[in-house]
This record gives sequence, structure tokens and C-alpha cells, in this order.
Amino acid sequence: MGKQVPQEIESRAKKLKDELNYHVYRYYVLDDPVISDAEYDELFRELLELEEKYPELVTPDSPTQRVGPPPAEGFKPVRHRAKMLSLGDAFGEGELEAFGKRVAKSLGLGVDEIDYVCELKMDGAAVALTYENGIFTVGATRGDGEVGEDITPNLRTIPTVPLKLMLEEPPEVMEVVGEVYMPKDSFERLNRERLEEGSPPFANPRNAAAGSLRQLVPAVTAKRNLSLFVFGILYSTAEIPPTHWEILQTLGKAGFKTNPNSKVVRGIAEASEYCKRWQKDRSSLPYEIDGVVVKVNEVTYQRALGETSKSPRWAIAYKFPPEEKTTRVVDIKVGVGRTGTLTPVAVLEPVVVAGSTITHATLHNEDEVKRKDVRIGDVVLVHKAGDVIPEIVKVITDARKGDERPFTMPKKCPVCGAEVVREEDEVATRCTNIACPAQTFERIIHFASRGAMDIDGMGEVTVRELLDRGFINDVADIFYLEPRHLYELPGFKEKSVQNLMAAIEAAKDRPLHKLLFGLGIRHVGSHMARVIAANFHSIDDLIEAREEDLLEIEGVGPKVAESIYSFFHQEENLKVIEKLKKAGVRTSEKMLEEKNVPLKGKTFVFTGALEDFTREEASEIVESLGGKASNSVSSRTDYVVAGKDPGGTKLAKARELGIKIIDEDEFKAIIGRR
Ligand code: NAD
Repeated sequence: MGKQVPQEIESRAKKLKDELNYHVYRYYVLDDPVISDAEYDELFRELLELEEKYPELVTPDSPTQRVGPPPAEGFKPVRHRAKMLSLGDAFGEGELEAFGKRVAKSLGLGVDEIDYVCELKMDGAAVALTYENGIFTVGATRGDGEVGEDITPNLRTIPTVPLKLMLEEPPEVMEVVGEVYMPKDSFERLNRERLEEGSPPFANPRNAAAGSLRQLVPAVTAKRNLSLFVFGILYSTAEIPPTHWEILQTLGKAGFKTNPNSKVVRGIAEASEYCKRWQKDRSSLPYEIDGVVVKVNEVTYQRALGETSKSPRWAIAYKFPPEEKTTRVVDIKVGVGRTGTLTPVAVLEPVVVAGSTITHATLHNEDEVKRKDVRIGDVVLVHKAGDVIPEIVKVITDARKGDERPFTMPKKCPVCGAEVVREEDEVATRCTNIACPAQTFERIIHFASRGAMDIDGMGEVTVRELLDRGFINDVADIFYLEPRHLYELPGFKEKSVQNLMAAIEAAKDRPLHKLLFGLGIRHVGSHMARVIAANFHSIDDLIEAREEDLLEIEGVGPKVAESIYSFFHQEENLKVIEKLKKAGVRTSEKMLEEKNVPLKGKTFVFTGALEDFTREEASEIVESLGGKASNSVSSRTDYVVAGKDPGGTKLAKARELGIKIIDEDEFKAIIGRR
């Protein structure tokens, strides 16, 4: 019999379980956590300690007994062939050493006699991929460890998920596990777009990756720039290599991406060195990691050590300390975005977090300021969400002196002085003046940006100078600029004037979806712009369209339809469109056919890294010349462009089908960029 559980402990444990279960739901099901991982871990540890002391408290619904929640509605359940486990945590060197001692003791070996594989702990979403006779057939989330969600079509959109293994004799069935992640720059871009569209930003790249994977429309996943690292074989009908290191090598040979920073070390002391090194260097990686996973290398040892209901005894996650610091809120300022949204931003006393100095943190909107109760003068805890966007975690209320000032949203736009409104069902407060200079500035910057009309050289400084001189007042004015205007800008000489004039000229010919995105219609991000452009072939058709017509398009809901309709029924906007047309800016897909379309009907597939372009840029060039870019090789492919380290599967398929394989230089010659 265990000790009698005191009443207050029992109710504390119950409270912790309820709270943690709620956070598990927010985190895994909604991909929208409301507390930081460090805070979650603290509550989790408290419960774990209570349960260790009073084992009667361990109930099946306790979050300490479960890997995660069961699959959500809307996805078909998939049963994993073996349980997909979570990992035990080690916070700090001491706990890592304790793990090493436990392992050595169980195996009857000395602490320095065991080899470990150290791997970066990717901060993404765990997935399991099933290959039958070498062909990718089913992909699933981890779910509760036993049953996950079927997300096969979404996983197929990720270029690093091989659709066919490069093995001579693939096993009949193999289930591979790995982590889908979103690189930091894509995460930042996605959140910027979401804020502009009025959607809530993702808390960190992990939730963004998980949210992107659990989409009901695969085309949305495809736009999110996800990638995959694999790190294990959950099940195989073939014999498994004798060490974890060899498993990784085998997976690499089969065509998977494995993390190049993994390393075999001898003993826990060396593992500890590896952890320290990456704790220091983590910010140099293009993706987010939250620790290091240390795994016993020998598979026979792994089997001897076994597992608990939640995690293996042969591996541990060394968690990096949260990158959080305290600082003071000096002021709360309000910025105005291109759609007129007023965004409160905390001005902070500068503080160094995760290797860079933080001076500002966005507070998103009025409700967020209220929820966190941030006041001017408060001492606050800040961290970088996903190590990227500075955020206020919480206010240290104990440090309040009484002279802190609460924030109130201004009644007038801080830039132009016009009335501001907040619609009943919206979190955003907006400036009502469409000619507000802040909006104009942001709109022009967005219009000229890379994802939109891509006018090289039209950056913030230049736009500001042009606006100040009255040379431009809206996006269409860009196309009426003459060299004499540019010569008046500081620093502009013959070459830079020529370059900018050429960039403006080139922008007249962008595909319709770029123009639609560039116009900055609310709720129309780059993906939605493509959807709309694929259904309406010109701006004129859109002006004619009724809301009902828009609603017929798959993926367009009432909010988007309403927003597009009202955009094309505002006089100001119609004037801008008229001006764009007069300047010769392409406003219909048809005009493309009449113009220069050297690549019409040609389909390109890219594999490997190109030197002069990202894959997206290369695809866009092809599209701008009337061609198509696809992700997979088929009989309809005309060219496979092979960059550095090309994927073997694509090349093999191209050879099999007799499709022309060209290198980057040949590609450049075709698109006339040599
Ligand atoms: P975990 O993230 O601590 O570790 C297990 C996972 O690590 C595996 O499933 C795998 O996906 C991943 N992983 C990444 N790289 C790996 C590698 N090289 N080898 C093996 N695995 C690798 O455990 P978990 O159960 O997925 O999640 C618990 C974490 O989630 C905690 O850190 C907790 O803070 C967080 N969480 C936060 C909230 C919140 O509200 N903020 C709620 C629930 C959970």
C-alpha cells in the first residue's frame, strides 16, 4: 500500500492533470498553445513528482501516461505498426549524466563503454511514413502514439518525402519515423502573411509545421515550404542494421534526408560536449531545434533497455534552457499596416536573447494587451517565439510599483488622425482612411515585394523618398515614374536609375496572381491569389463577379468573397486599376498568350540545389514565360533540371521515361538569362 494521499495533494494533482490536458489539446489539436513550452514542462514536472511520490495518483487520463491526444475528426485514423513514443527529458548536464549512469547500470557496463548517437532535436511534428515494396503509401501524424491521423496527401507535397525508395530490394513493408519542420525564414514569412490577412500568427515553427501538415486541403500544405528529416525505422519486414548509426546511413541511401550534424560519441561526457556546442550554435541553423537527442547506438542494447509506456529507456532529449530574459516596457507604440490594422508594439529596454538584441515585441492587438495585461513601465519576461519573433511571455506582476500605466487603443489613427474602428467580430482595430499615408507606404512596399510584383530596388528607403516628394501616391504611379524623378533621389546615379527603370518595366508583365496578391486585398494571401487567378482570368472578370460567383470556388469562404467583392467596388481601387491598365500592366492571363510565351506547354521539374535561383524563383521564371513547373516527373515532363545533389528518384524516373535532363547552364540558356 502506498502512503495515504493528502487531500490538498490530490486536488492539486487533479488540477494539474486538467490543466495539462487542456494545454495538450491546444498544442497538438489546435496547434495554438497559450503557454510557453517551458511553462508547460514546469507543470508537467510538478505532476510527475507528485505521481512518483504517490503512485495512486497515476490514472490513465494523466498526461504523464500518454504520448499525445488521439486523432482529430476530419482525418482517417492510422494504426502504427509499433508504438511511436515520446522522449524522456534531461534538463541540464546533471540529468544527462544520471541518464548515462542508469543506462550503464542496466547494461552492466562502465559509463565510458557505451556509444551514443547525438542528434539535433528538430522542433517540428513527428510523422510516420509507410513504404510498401519501396513505394510511399501512407503517412501519419504521431497522434497518441498508437493511432495517428492519415495525412498522406499532405506529406506527398513535401519535396523531401521520397515517393519511391532508391533501394535495389526494398522491404515489403517499412515504417520510417521523422520530423517535419518549417525553416525559420518560411515561418517568419508565413506569420507576416497571416497577420496581414488578419489571421492569428503561429506561436512557433513547430506549431506552424504541425498546423500546415494537418490541413484538409493539400494545396495549402504545399505552399508552406515544409521539409523532413528522418531518424528511425519503426518497423520493417527486412532485417534492421545492428546500430542506430547504420540505420541512419541506410535511410540516407534509401533517398531520405537525414540530419548531417548527427554524430557518434563514446560515453556521456562526449555527448554532453555535443549538447553544449549546439546550445551555443543553435541560432546558426536555418531551422529551430529545442535540444539534442542522445540515443544508445547498439540496437541489441536498446532492446535490452526497453521502454516505458511513454518513452524508450535508451534515449533521452536533452532540452536547452528556454531563451528567456526579463526587461522593462518603456512604451507601447501603435503601428499601422497596409490594411490599416493598428498594431500595438512594446518598446523594450534592449536585452540580448538567443544571440540577438531585442528592442521591440509585437503585442498583436488590443485583446492580446489585455490578456497579458502589459502596462507601460512593467517588468516583463521576453523570449523569441521559435527563436525568431520576440514576444512577451508574461508580466512579472510582483515587480509592479504602482506607477505602471495601462495601455488604451487610440481612438484616432496615430499616423493620419482619421477615426479608427473595430468590427464586432474582429480582433483588429483599423484606420478608416484608405488614403492614410501609413497604409499607402505599406501597400506600396507590399506591392513591390518579392512575392508580389517583385520590383528589385523598390525598397523601403526608395519608396519613402518617392512618397515624400509626391512622385507616387499609389501603386499605379510606380509605372509612371521617369528617370528624371529617380535622379532626384539621394544616391541614384545612371546605373541605379537604369536598373530601377528596367525592374519597373519587367514588373508590368507579372502573372495575374502576383498582381492580385500585390494589390493587398484583405484575406487574399499569395495562395488565395493563385486560386482566384486560376478561376478568373482577368481583373475585368473579377470586377464583374458577384459574391456568389466567388463563393463557387473551392477554398473561398464568405469572408474572402466579401473582401474581394468590396475591393473591386471601391472607386479608389478601380481608379488605380484603370491607371495600371493604361500604363500597360498585365491584368489578364489572356494577355500572356498574346505576348512572349517561349515556354508555352513546357513542363519543368527541378531537383537538387540551383546556384543562381531558389526553386521558387526558378519556377516563377518558367511560369512567367508561359511554362509550368511541377514537383514530380511524369511522361508529361519536358525537362528535368538537375542542380547540385539532385534527388536520385527524380533522375531515375526521368531516365526511365527518356526525359531530357539538363543542368543549370542549359536551363539559363533556355530562359534567356545567360
Ligand atoms: P518531445 O518533443 O519532448 O520529444 C519527442 C519528439 O521529439 C519525438 O516525437 C520527435 O518528434 C521529436 N524529435 C525531434 N528530433 C528528433 C530526433 N533526432 N530523434 C528522435 N526524436 C526527435 O516530446 P513530445 O511528447 O512530442 O512533446 C512534449 C513537448 O511538447 C514538451 O517540450 C512540451 O513543452 C511541449 N508541449 C507544450 C505544450 C504547451 O502548451 N506549450 C503542450 C503540450 C506539449
